[in-house]
Amino acid sequence: MYIPVIGIETHVQLKTETKIFCGCANRYGNAPNTLVCPVCLGLPGTLPVLNEYAVELAVKTASALGCTISNKSVFARKNYFYPDLPKGYQISQYDEPMAKDGWLRLSGHRTEKKIRISRIHLEEDAGKMLHPEGNIEISESRIDLNRCGVPLVEIVTEPDIGSPQEAYEYLSRLRQILLYIGVSDCSMEEGSLRCDANISMKIKGSDLMGQRTELKNLNSFKFVKKALEFEINRQSELLSNGEKVIPETLAWDETLSGIVKLRSKETSEDYRYFPEPDLIQLTLKDQDIKRIRSELPELPDQKRERFISDYGIPENNAAALTSTIELAEYFEEAASHCTDNKKLSDWILSEILNILRENRVSIKEFRISPEKTAGLVELIGSGRISGRIAKDLFREMVRSGNSAEKILSDSGLELISDPVDLEKIIEDVLGSSPEEVLSYKNGNVKIIGFLIGKAMKETNGKADPVLLNKIMKEKLDNCT
Ligand code: ADP
Ligand code: MG
Ligand code: ZN
Repeated sequence: MYIPVIGIETHVQLKTETKIFCGCANRYGNAPNTLVCPVCLGLPGTLPVLNEYAVELAVKTASALGCTISNKSVFARKNYFYPDLPKGYQISQYDEPMAKDGWLRLSGHRTEKKIRISRIHLEEDAGKMLHPEGNIEISESRIDLNRCGVPLVEIVTEPDIGSPQEAYEYLSRLRQILLYIGVSDCSMEEGSLRCDANISMKIKGSDLMGQRTELKNLNSFKFVKKALEFEINRQSELLSNGEKVIPETLAWDETLSGIVKLRSKETSEDYRYFPEPDLIQLTLKDQDIKRIRSELPELPDQKRERFISDYGIPENNAAALTSTIELAEYFEEAASHCTDNKKLSDWILSEILNILRENRVSIKEFRISPEKTAGLVELIGSGRISGRIAKDLFREMVRSGNSAEKILSDSGLELISDPVDLEKIIEDVLGSSPEEVLSYKNGNVKIIGFLIGKAMKETNGKADPVLLNKIMKEKLDNCT
C-alpha cells in the first residue's frame, strides 16, 4: 500500500517599494521593460546593494512561521541559462539560508498536524517570458525584464504533507499568515505567490522515501490539488506495474487536465552554486530580530482562540471572522458597540459577506461602518424590527449609506409592538370574522392561524409576531 509524500516550495514576492538589489520600482503591470536599470539587467561592472526593507520583511515572514533566524547568512549564485535571466545566474541563498526549522499548523482549532518548514531564504526574481499562446498582442515570444530583481522569499517545507487536501490547506494557511503580516499581496494571478510541489510515493509504515517528481506551473491552489491527485495516480500505477518513477520536473496543463514533462530533474550540482562575491554576508543583530518579532500582529490562530474566549462566539464563527485581518477588525470594532456578539457574528458572516460577494468588494471598501452594523443588530435584538425586515433595511443601508435608525424612522418599517395598537387591530379582525371565532370556540384551535394572518395583513406584516400571537389568544379565550 503506497501513500503520498509531498513537500512544497513557495516563492513569495515581498511588498517593497523597490527591488532587492537596485532602486527600480517593484511594481506589477507596467509596460514591459520600463522598470529596469543596469543592475537588474546584469550589465557588466554594476554592483548589487541589498534592500534593507526586503530583509526586514523576510525576517517578519520567518518569525511568523516560527523559524530560527540566523545571525549570519550568505548569498550565493545559482547558475543557469534561461532567456529571462540576463545575468546568467540568480542571486539566492544556498547552504547558509536566513532562517531554518519553522512550522505551520494546519487549519482548525483542534488540529495538531504541523507542517515543518525546513528553510526560508531571500532571493531575486527572474524576468518573465511572454508567449503568443494566450496573448493576442504578440505574434512571437518576448521577454519582459520588469520582474528581474523583485525580492522573493522562498519557503520550503519538509516532506510532511500527506495528501492533496493537506497541500491545499497548507497553502491556504500560509497565504492567510502572509496576508496578516502584510509582507506580500499573495496574488496568484499577478504571480506574487507561486508554488512547486514535490511528490513521491512510499510504502505505508516505511521510512524509505520514494523517487520524487516536481510539479510546476500550479497557478491556483485548486490546480495544486488536481495536479497532485493526477500525479499520485500516475506514480501509483507505475509502481504497481513494477516500473520506476523517473525524477523529472513536470508542469500541470489545465487545458489537458494532465501533466507534461519539462525536463529531467536538475540536482544542486547542476547549478554550480558558489558564494556571491559582490555581496558581504548578511548579518542580523539579535536586537533587530527581537524588535521585528515584537512588531508582529496577532496571528490567525491566536486571534481565533481569543475571539472564542473573549466574545463567546462559536468556533466556526471565530475561524471565519479571523480568516482575514480586515474582517476580524471589522467584527471587533462592531462588537464594541453591540451587546449580542453571537448575533453580530452571524450577521457579518451571512448578510455582510453575501453583499460583499454580490458587489465584488472587500470588507475594507464596505460602506456600512462597523458601528452602523452594530446599530442594526441592536435593533433586531430589541424586537423593534423582525429578522425579515432587518434584511431589507440592511440593503437600504447599503444603498443609501444611512443608519438603521434613520431609515426606520423615515420608512415606517418599524414593528408595531404597542399592545394598545395591536389590540385595536385584533378586535377589528375578530369583529369581522364571526364564523371563524365561533369555529375556534367549538374547538378548532388551528383557525387562530387564519386570524393572525388576517391581522398581519392589516399591518402590512409589521405587527410584532410574538405579541400579536399572545394578544390574539387572550382575546379569543376571553371573549364570550
Ligand atoms: P531541490 O534542491 O530539488 O529543490 P530540496 O531538497 O530543496 O530539493 O527539496 C525541495 C522540496 O522537495 C522540499 O519541500 C522537500 O521537502 C521535498 N522533497 C524532498 N524529497 C522528497 C521526496 N522524496 N518526496 C517528496 N518530497 C520531497
Ligand atoms: Mg528547490
Ligand atoms: Zn534595476
